[in-house]
Amino acid sequence: MTDTQQTTQPTTRPATQQSEAERALLAKVPTGLLVDGTWSQAADGATFPVVDPATGETLLEIADATPEDGVRALDAADAARSAWATTPPRQRAEVLRRAFDLLQERREDFALLMTLEMGKPLAEARGEVTYGGEFLRWFSEEAVRIGGSYGTNPEGSGRAIVTHKPVGPAYLITPWNFPLAMATRKIAPALAAGCTVVVKPAELTPLTTLLFADLLLEAGVPAGVVNVVPTTHAGPLSEPLIADPRLRKLSFTGSTPVGRTLLAQAAQNVLRTSMELGGNAPFLVFADADLDLAVEGALAAKFRNTGQACTAANRFLVHEDVAEEFARRVTARVEAMSVGRGTEDGVAIGPLIDDRAVAKAHRLVTDAVERGAVVRTGGHPVEGPGTFYAPTVLTDVQPGSDLLRDEIFGPVLAIRSFRTEGEAIAAANDTEYGLVGYAFTEDPARGQRLMERLETGMLGLNTGVVSNASAPFGGVKQSGLGREGGGEGIAEYLETMYTLTPDPFRSTEGAAR
Ligand code: NAP
Repeated sequence: MTDTQQTTQPTTRPATQQSEAERALLAKVPTGLLVDGTWSQAADGATFPVVDPATGETLLEIADATPEDGVRALDAADAARSAWATTPPRQRAEVLRRAFDLLQERREDFALLMTLEMGKPLAEARGEVTYGGEFLRWFSEEAVRIGGSYGTNPEGSGRAIVTHKPVGPAYLITPWNFPLAMATRKIAPALAAGCTVVVKPAELTPLTTLLFADLLLEAGVPAGVVNVVPTTHAGPLSEPLIADPRLRKLSFTGSTPVGRTLLAQAAQNVLRTSMELGGNAPFLVFADADLDLAVEGALAAKFRNTGQACTAANRFLVHEDVAEEFARRVTARVEAMSVGRGTEDGVAIGPLIDDRAVAKAHRLVTDAVERGAVVRTGGHPVEGPGTFYAPTVLTDVQPGSDLLRDEIFGPVLAIRSFRTEGEAIAAANDTEYGLVGYAFTEDPARGQRLMERLETGMLGLNTGVVSNASAPFGGVKQSGLGREGGGEGIAEYLETMYTLTPDPFRSTEGAAR
């Protein structure tokens, strides 16, 4: 035990066995690549294991796509492009709606599969089925509302007709932390707009995407419209696709460093891009906040997905008058959190995704403690099968601590105090990221000042959850480009074109007719 460790959270956990229901579910998951409506093996026959992070056991071996398989998938997306683009919007909408209905019928399967491959507690996985499913319903509704406009130019000498067309084949790269929602947030608007897609799920959690792709086929998605290529060669598979002139759109969710690399590659073909990148969310608690609400918001914003969310609150900035009371209440709640495999009853904290994530969380905690932070609970890895870290609360976090700069991506709630609103806003904005912020205050004018001064794409004002399919999710600064969800979400997959015509009344002959 190091001097950063506390005993309020258990340091070991027992092994668990795979159940009959889990084995039955895994038997339903396709293990191939989906190209042109057909499941196939990788070109070289290679496979890779997908592991349960709570046990370290292999769940399934699946096909490991080669760069040639990636090109085959783009061939299929390109071949299906024109037929899907000209499929009536109502028909595209109904396919998405059927997919939504099928997902509701199979919500328990999808929830359990996410818990198995990613580790999140089952209750949260069910929440992700609801959230992820809403993109199918929302974009089924948006598909039939792709409008245009008709207008007279200011000189009166012509008319402009503005139309929107699908941008073309899109390459969608998703991260491991929300295996269903990050896929539906891209696939649904792309299909609604009339684009065909190649999807590359994360190597660590591809099973949910494979099962979802099977559901899409059943919902009536034609061959070639959705192609899925899980791989352990993300870079070599992606590069030729991004360089291929047939590809017209790249949508990526993941870390900022990988996003930068992909943007540089996309520049070659001046590809349309959407980038949902990393975050470093500030969570501000003012002296006039409703502390009960702030504590609930803090737990949701920090511990959802075991802290592994781009929207996870990373830096808690609490007014000095309420900092101790806030820390006391939060610590009491965190001490009561149960750590375990997400399938177990009452578990609030699942495993982190792998050993590297545990090592990173512990390195950040150790650095903060060495600089003067106080561990109120947790502060250590949990031994046993799987990759667990004890839910942790730190107070007195000092400026310069690494966890104020880096995404923690783990269950570590780190508190600093502040004196004035100006100081809090300056600290909140002191990061290269700008995805989301959270603020708790009962003063409406202060709330508005924060809306105007916080450099983030989203703000949770007196709430710890901001995600909603009807809202334009996305960040500013190095948290990304573009928006997913809302009306903006479908626009990411549409090109705008205008046609200019002369004034139809310009000749008396024309006017008389
Ligand atoms: P990551 O390492 O950047 O990976 C994301 C995806 O990119 C994975 O599918 C990965 O494949 C792939 N990838 C990695 N290197 C690549 C390359 N050279 N070319 C093409 N693809 C490549 O991120 P992660 O660890 O999976 O996810 C966590 C990060 O995502 C965090 O920073 C989090 O904040 C961010 N995130 C952002 C949002 C948002 O909406 N803003 C939402 C969720 C997560 P492999 O799996 O094979 O490596």
